[in-house]
Amino acid sequence: MSTATPTLAPCPHFIAGEWLPSPHLATTPVFNPSTGDIIAECPAGGAAEVNAAVEAAHAAFPMWRDTPAVERARVFFRYRQLVEQNYDKLCRTVSREHGKTLSEARGDVHRGLENIEYACGIPTLLFGDTLGNLARGVDCETLLQPLGVCVGITPFNFPAMVPLWMFPLALACGNTFVLKPSEKVPLTAILLGELLAQAGLPKGVFNIVHGGRPAVDALLTHPKVRAISFVGSSPIAKYIYETGTRHGKRVQANGGAKNYLVIMPDADISKTVEALSTAAFGCAGERCMAGSTAITVGAAAERLLPDLIAAARAIKVGPTDRPAQPDMGPLITPAHRDKVLQLVATAETEGAKIIADGRRVSVPDAPRGFYLGATIVDGVEANMTLAREEVFGPVLNVMRMDDLDHAIERANASAYGNGAAIFTNSGAAAREFKHRVKAGMVGINVGVPATMAMFPFTGWDDSFYGDLHIQGKEAVQFYTQQKVITTRWFGGEVGDVWKK
Ligand code: NAD
Repeated sequence: MSTATPTLAPCPHFIAGEWLPSPHLATTPVFNPSTGDIIAECPAGGAAEVNAAVEAAHAAFPMWRDTPAVERARVFFRYRQLVEQNYDKLCRTVSREHGKTLSEARGDVHRGLENIEYACGIPTLLFGDTLGNLARGVDCETLLQPLGVCVGITPFNFPAMVPLWMFPLALACGNTFVLKPSEKVPLTAILLGELLAQAGLPKGVFNIVHGGRPAVDALLTHPKVRAISFVGSSPIAKYIYETGTRHGKRVQANGGAKNYLVIMPDADISKTVEALSTAAFGCAGERCMAGSTAITVGAAAERLLPDLIAAARAIKVGPTDRPAQPDMGPLITPAHRDKVLQLVATAETEGAKIIADGRRVSVPDAPRGFYLGATIVDGVEANMTLAREEVFGPVLNVMRMDDLDHAIERANASAYGNGAAIFTNSGAAAREFKHRVKAGMVGINVGVPATMAMFPFTGWDDSFYGDLHIQGKEAVQFYTQQKVITTRWFGGEVGDVWKK
């Protein structure tokens, strides 16, 4: 148990290359969720900080836009190296302010690193098309040019990866950037910003403003902001999309999710239990690609559930900020843990059955941490609250269906469309599923089919508002505007080599 109050970590804004303490008195506490201690106070930046950051980014844009793509890429080669050299520090920061286990934090930073690596390829990613002699004596070419000031607004659950989904590629494309990280996990973003400055990025090209809604609203409406990348819950994603586009900005807004995992009777049970357990309880269920609902088909439930319950009960919950690592860490805040507890209690009153109960988990060496054990709720019906709402905690719903048709129908009734997976040994069932399921990322015997840097993160329906997704070639399109140049030269005759 922690006894001494930890010294608060500084939480400055980063504007025009300077780290600036906030004059605002209003702050949000940043917890170490493992202990319940407050480790920093995140300042509530507003219109003044946003304006200063956007103006700095706007002023830096012409110089950065005109820096050759190969030189911009070199900054990211150096950044990649610095992130790798500071890997442990970054992972410990993620783990301390978020509560992920160190191994999960490594995954968070690693996925981010892959996005930096992708951005290093910017000279070839920005290739355009050409067609010579499109008409007689006329050539045509396309150029991908940056937009200007781009903005990233990020959630708490991947403090390294989600900001890194955005700013390396946006900057490599020649834009400048303002990041508004989650007020629950600002410290990882600060460290990422420090390393970017060390990599030699010129002042003003990248800026950080902390805060909540007032900062976000100032960004959404600022006339010099050209594009907004958002990741967070669906109601806020929708708000960002509607407000940003109304103010003339290009917006990509990833929302929440409810992901369905269909288990066929012929699935390999031990591998499926392992995959389901990771999908549902990894990162304490706080991920948008968490497999939160298992739909068992026919006899799959009887084959699967005893082992799945045993696996859930074996998950060791505990603090992630010390050398002995647990299997699962705490939830982000006490308020969030209470919300998850409430959803499980409501499911019970609505008639579902708790077959693995993590509600009374005890962590004697960190009694003030925000813990909840792995929980499985069986007999969940479509009309129950738990079936509809995103839980974002270590809770797996089980729904039982007679056949694949009904399982797909059930999954497709969800308002969300982020991920879906099927576990089976049947190629025909897998094929049927991948063609008919209504989700942007599909796994076949893969529980968390989250895409890597070179593929777009393709949420559908209420999981995404916009046209061009984050990551991959779609993101290059998002962060650039296309120019088509049609050329004809007047003058002397050009010799016809073909006649010789
Ligand atoms: P959140 O929506 O509460 O916050 C996300 C961002 O929006 C934060 O920066 C926050 O400061 C800001 N914000 C919050 N309320 C706001 C308001 N009223 N007006 C303007 N801005 C506001 O999300 P969270 O709790 O930090 O993160 C969890 C959510 O993010 C889950 O729903 C999860 O599914 C989703 N998520 C989605 C993806 C994806 O790619 N689809 C990835 C990660 C997380």
